[in-house]
Amino acid sequence: MKRFTRDGNLDEKAALLSGATAWTTTPVDRLGIPSIVLTDGPHGVRLEKPDSERFSFENSFPATCFPTAAALGSSWDPDLLTRIGEALGREGRALGVNVLLGPGVNIKRSPLCGRNFEYLSEDPYLTGRLGAALVRGVQSQGVGASVKHFAANNQETERLRVSAEVDERTLREIYLPAFEHIVTEAKPWTVMAAYNRINGVHATQNRWLLTQVLREEWGFDGLVVSDWCAVTDPVEAVTAGLDLEMPANAGSPGRLVTAVREGRLDEALLDRAVDRVLALIERAQPANGSPDFEAHHALARQAAAESAVLLKNEGALLPLAPGTRVAVFGETHRHQGAGSSKIVPTRLDRAVDHLEIAEIAADADVAVLFLGLPEGEESEGFDRTHIDLPADQIRLLEEVAAVHPNTVVVLANGGVVRTGDWERHATAVLEMWLPGQAGGAAVADLLYGRVNPSGRLAETIPLRLPDTPAYLDFPGSEGAVRYGERLYVGYRHHDARDLDVAYPFGHGLSYTTFEYSDLDVTGLTVEVTVTNTGDRPGKEVVQLYVRDVESTVDRPVRELKGFRKVHLEPAESKRVTFIIQPRDLCFYSVAREDWVQETGDFEFSVGASSRDLRLSATVHIAGPEDTTPLTLANTLAEWLADPRGAAVVGEMAELGDPQIRAMVEHLPLDRLIAMSNGRIDAARFV
Ligand code: BGC
Repeated sequence: MKRFTRDGNLDEKAALLSGATAWTTTPVDRLGIPSIVLTDGPHGVRLEKPDSERFSFENSFPATCFPTAAALGSSWDPDLLTRIGEALGREGRALGVNVLLGPGVNIKRSPLCGRNFEYLSEDPYLTGRLGAALVRGVQSQGVGASVKHFAANNQETERLRVSAEVDERTLREIYLPAFEHIVTEAKPWTVMAAYNRINGVHATQNRWLLTQVLREEWGFDGLVVSDWCAVTDPVEAVTAGLDLEMPANAGSPGRLVTAVREGRLDEALLDRAVDRVLALIERAQPANGSPDFEAHHALARQAAAESAVLLKNEGALLPLAPGTRVAVFGETHRHQGAGSSKIVPTRLDRAVDHLEIAEIAADADVAVLFLGLPEGEESEGFDRTHIDLPADQIRLLEEVAAVHPNTVVVLANGGVVRTGDWERHATAVLEMWLPGQAGGAAVADLLYGRVNPSGRLAETIPLRLPDTPAYLDFPGSEGAVRYGERLYVGYRHHDARDLDVAYPFGHGLSYTTFEYSDLDVTGLTVEVTVTNTGDRPGKEVVQLYVRDVESTVDRPVRELKGFRKVHLEPAESKRVTFIIQPRDLCFYSVAREDWVQETGDFEFSVGASSRDLRLSATVHIAGPEDTTPLTLANTLAEWLADPRGAAVVGEMAELGDPQIRAMVEHLPLDRLIAMSNGRIDAARFV
């Protein structure tokens, strides 16, 4: 492999740190340093044709349009994401793409985010596992991934200016862990710094984020690229740890050179970024191979089917028996979202071409209605203002259901839609999300039972928009959005507030049934047996949730800490094993600047959704000894809660009646000592 060195003069080095065009880095011909290609995107390769305008969403080379992240998140199947990543990598490699700009792993904070279709889940654990699987697949083909958008990029409104005002614990527990997991486990070649500011500082210019957390704590050794046009000050960006500004920005190299000459930018920092750009160029592989688009289409079809969520199926209307006469209503479905991830598919399956259709609607046994969000209601670049289906679609459903007792609704939408106001008219509801170019055929596979539905919700479907976590704080105002709901995002919010939901996180029906038995928790190993008790093969997504029964800080009621998708033949059983990592039991302590595992009882629950927990066990788990010294600034309660402290203050706790005790236990000890006016001797606590 050629090793590039940074022999360039200052102008050449500065030029390397921003793009040459919309999608390529700057070559240095004198030194033989080539240019490499970075392009979108998460669900298909969007390589614009050479004759395109600078940014064109329609004029790219045809590529397989895989299901969007909203769909893939619902597959709960890391192996599937790896296979899709491999296919993306193969298609990218064949076109000469060196870095694919994805996956998008931002957490779905509000259902209103216009770009939720590009994100995997409301849950960081699920997002991290699926994102890492995709990255591994892409990179196995010699194409780099770019995990985006780092970080707290959870809305489109004011996306280039807004400051996400998030406390550190919430960042550490909700918005950063997916990135952390992917960076540490899948080693992406690049991370993309987001448009927004975080607590006032642009992500592209945020030293804490790009250097302290990403590199010093997580050990990231790849390259940080900016989101497109996200850099406001290239000098600040390089200083903070950004390596490559994209796309071309004519003014930036000159600003960097001047800053070095004027002593405002340490040349060593510029060299550091140059080294990382050169290291990325070294990793880049030449174009190679010719993808099997037929095989990739088949994979897209399988993925769409695996990702669909059967929300409701009254009276087991589905699957339809072969020969069932079907009447079809509604628009042909959207299959992908709008913006930078929009690609030109190699072909497009329409569901109507795959259903056997009754000649006269009145003769049909079953009505199938295609509903969903119209093109233009959700996109990169703007947020939604509501989560409702269009009123004319609901009217159509009412009219059809009035004459057809057996009505199936098939949904296509990237962001979640409210179901509570219309679903009583539907006998069955199948959520397809934006399922990619083979989604139409996948609908038929599912309706006729050629594939047994196995998707599970990666986000809660709320009953009403006002029930959602960020309702009062989205999308913010005056340049800032306050993450007032803190950790309580998605099911963490609905569970903490004990709110009813339309469909809970993790929900999804199957054409068969599963039973859970023999839960065993030994140490940090959780095992459970799952049995297919129905008469068809099917896949169950076994979900493990953990609850810290008693904690010194507020914690979510339960959090996903394991999942496994298992295929079971009728009557077959499998033993599923989860190994809990100590970190899965921790909260992030801002005071201690570290993850803390407290000693105590933890409840482990397994089940088919966050609200369909079949078996639970509570076990006592000892955490590492707390060595933080107790001081007189700690309260009586804190001394009592700590075994070291209890030994010292124990006898004091016996003093006074319970009411006095309740009044004083939250006083710092030095105050208590002062109040005792000499009766308590401070010396005993030192
Ligand atoms: C998006 C990125 C995308 C980039 C290049 C930006 O507007 O936020 O996700 O990769 O454009 O198209």
